[in-house]
Amino acid sequence: IKLNINLNERSYPIYITTDYSDLKSSLDNAKINGKLVLITDSNVDKYQSQQCMDSLRKFEGEVFKYVIPAGEKSKNLDTIRDIYQYLISLKLDRNSTLVALGGGVVGDITGFAAATFLRGINFVQIPTSLLAQSDSSVGGKVGVDFNGSKNIIGAFYQPKFVYINVNTLRTLPKRELQAGLAEVVKHGIIQDAEFFDYIDYNVNKIFSFDESVLQYITKINCSIKGSVVEKDERESGLRANLNFGHTIGHAIETVMNFELLHGECVSLGMVAAFRMAQYLEMIESDLVDKVKNTLMKIGLPVKLENIDVDKVYNQMFYDKKIKGNKLTFILPRKKIGEVVQCTIDDEALIKRAIADLKE
Ligand code: NAD
Ligand code: ZN
Repeated sequence: IKLNINLNERSYPIYITTDYSDLKSSLDNAKINGKLVLITDSNVDKYQSQQCMDSLRKFEGEVFKYVIPAGEKSKNLDTIRDIYQYLISLKLDRNSTLVALGGGVVGDITGFAAATFLRGINFVQIPTSLLAQSDSSVGGKVGVDFNGSKNIIGAFYQPKFVYINVNTLRTLPKRELQAGLAEVVKHGIIQDAEFFDYIDYNVNKIFSFDESVLQYITKINCSIKGSVVEKDERESGLRANLNFGHTIGHAIETVMNFELLHGECVSLGMVAAFRMAQYLEMIESDLVDKVKNTLMKIGLPVKLENIDVDKVYNQMFYDKKIKGNKLTFILPRKKIGEVVQCTIDDEALIKRAIADLKE
């Protein structure tokens, strides 16, 4: 399956496959030659590198591999400096390519290194986590954390292509797979009710790695994210809809000291957003239950008994660096598949929606 992201001269294809065998032809199609450096992390290296490297070696140019320690703690400028040093030691030129094999951390780091080394060299994404396949590898946002702030240093830098092998999900820890599904469900909620129902209906097939279901989900998912990015590459308006569930979700993530995965917090944030919409009479209450049911079927959290409502509430203001008392939320309108941006200054209502997460 092939999709195209249309961004004028920065347009690129997304290939959705079930193995690594088409990597060489994808590189040829992108007219990539020269040296190729695969960047991956210590976990992905264990499970995926071998097959991927075997396939890359069919490519004419020289192929190198660089492994960073797995985890968000690697997503910083120290790792970037180490990568620059490695690239310099290989005498890479402008014609070279960095290939990111891994989750969102590897993709964001590799993309940032590619965007900045020699003012920009080729970049290819081979996302291996569901979060990366469904979200972070499409859209061109790359970057690192700095001084305790997430993604605060970065760039918009589009890859030459994205190569998704859905079978990489087989080695992903189940909790990571579940967390990645939160963003997939989010895409259904913001734009496609039928897709939402498809996910709900096929949860078991997802967890048994049914190739055709995974490929279909990836296709719809990337086209939803892609269509939003096409209309708003540099996030000035519409792209904000992708933040559905994230205003409260991010705050929970921080207040819980990153003990919960990002997708798990987004799941909680989406439930709270539906509650807010219910209290604002933008949706019927049965819709809240419908969404909760789907999230629970996936195994995502829909409640957090020990949530500190005031802390979460205050954290949202820190996150948005907002003065005064107005927060912007993306909320569902009438049905699944449609959202609107709402500025809300009703503290009691917001806190009630957060407090509801206790039960
Ligand atoms: P991650 O890259 O840390 O991957 C999660 C874990 O799964 C890691 O331990 C990793 O080693 C492991 N893993 C990945 N693929 C595997 C596989 N196939 N088999 C076995 N283990 C595997 O985290 P993530 O959830 O993929 O991504 C999170 C990052 O993405 C965050 O840093 C976040 O800021 C970023 N992000 C970026 C964007 C964007 O638009 N650029 C969007 C959303 C999130
Ligand atoms: Zn997210």
